[in-house]
Amino acid sequence: MDGCIFCKIIKKELPSTIYYENERVIAIKDINPATPVHVLIIPKEHIESVKDITSDNANVLIDIHIAANAVAEQLGIKDKGYRLITNCGKGAGQTVFHLHYHLLGGIEMNPKII
Ligand code: 5GP
Ligand code: ZN
Repeated sequence: MDGCIFCKIIKKELPSTIYYENERVIAIKDINPATPVHVLIIPKEHIESVKDITSDNANVLIDIHIAANAVAEQLGIKDKGYRLITNCGKGAGQTVFHLHYHLLGGIEMNPKII
């Protein structure tokens, strides 16, 4: 999609550090990491956010979880624990309107707020 930063990363028009990639998803290092491990799991199809998931495109959520598991293992946080979250809409803090899941880890997250 024109003007979408993640579509440009997917098309390799912009650089990124890639941890995992197949035909349907890509996992890249977040440019401004919030935790020691901060990876973005992104479907290659331009879907705005999780509110746009339907029975027609929901299969990509399986790929996203498989990618997250692979990256968590690759980066050594599989057994320590991590979070996989998505912000849906401005009010939730979404700033890039191409669906992505944050894989966050490498830090003790207790005490926790949710
Ligand atoms: P959101 O705020 O939409 O949930 O998450 C967007 C994330 O994308 C942020 O954590 C931000 O740091 C990351 N981000 C924004 N632009 C770029 C970029 O050009 N490259 C990478 N790798 N991450 C980006
Ligand atoms: Zn996009």
